[in-house]
Amino acid sequence: MIICETKLKTFAVDLSSTRGPSNLFNNHLVEPVTGVRLGDIDPGYHGKYDTREAALPEMQVHVQKMDQLQYLMYAEKKHALLIVLQGLDAAGKDGVVRLVTSGTNPAGYRVVGFKQPTPADLNHDFLWRVHPHVPAKGELAIFNRSHYEDVLVVRVHRLAPVNVWSRRYELINDFERWLVLENNTRVLKFFLYISKEEQLARFKQRLDDPSRRWKISESDYKEREYWDDYIDAFEDMLDKTNTHHAPWFVIPSNHKWFRDLAVLQIITRTLEDLDMKFPEPTVDIADIRRRYHAAEGESMSENPAAIPREWIQEAR
Ligand code: AMP
Ligand code: MG
Repeated sequence: MIICETKLKTFAVDLSSTRGPSNLFNNHLVEPVTGVRLGDIDPGYHGKYDTREAALPEMQVHVQKMDQLQYLMYAEKKHALLIVLQGLDAAGKDGVVRLVTSGTNPAGYRVVGFKQPTPADLNHDFLWRVHPHVPAKGELAIFNRSHYEDVLVVRVHRLAPVNVWSRRYELINDFERWLVLENNTRVLKFFLYISKEEQLARFKQRLDDPSRRWKISESDYKEREYWDDYIDAFEDMLDKTNTHHAPWFVIPSNHKWFRDLAVLQIITRTLEDLDMKFPEPTVDIADIRRRYHAAEGESMSENPAAIPREWIQEAR
């Protein structure tokens, strides 16, 4: 099922494929060549899933799988996973955070939101505030906004001169490569892509819902005036920072269920690819069984090897 052809790559999604999740994984990958045109991608794409109900069974399978794999990653402590979420206001970054953390053990992940930099942040290089939050081995970290703001909002609002923000793409690539090489980190970057109309509809829903009115600010509406500038900045970001070691995925996000399913599928696929194993026990299991669980008949019969020799002789 094809969303669109771009001159660089087909952005195709077919969640129904019998070839499994790798299909989605591969096809959402922006190939590391220049010329990404967001205008060629349909943010309203939803594959064969017309409703959330239709996507739910697969979503549940993925949430469960992700929970198991995250537990394994936490136990193995060999890999780290960094998930970067970018997108315009109301694109669903918070929703994806809730989704990804819904089935995971809080001990194994951290969520970090990047807001306007503090004066101390601004007196340092732009990555200074980011580095302390990268995931440790065994951990999953989700960045709700990230170091990419320094080539997005900073560029659009001219918060730094061109010569400053324009060299950051390369610095970001180096930084992410550093995380990959030095700490065995998988870096997944999701650009949640919504249309301008969908954004306005979501703002309206916030107005109508007393529990979400607090989220609205005048600046959300003001930012819409810069829509085209943001799209240019996102396109450049995708062009210049989509690398093999830290790929971007453009997620059509007008339909929340499709967005959720696509993100889940890419994460579980990535974790599966790590080929993780539980660490070997640090104790002699048979010995521990014999010494501490000898009174429990059940566990003894489970593992005859652990039954003391004298007991076996007695039984005879
Ligand atoms: P929100 O995600 O809605 O809580 O808003 C956070 C705000 O912080 C957004 O308007 C971002 O554009 C802004 N922000 C995040 N990082 C930076 C940065 N490095 N420089 C300037 N503004 C930033
Ligand atoms: Mg906001």
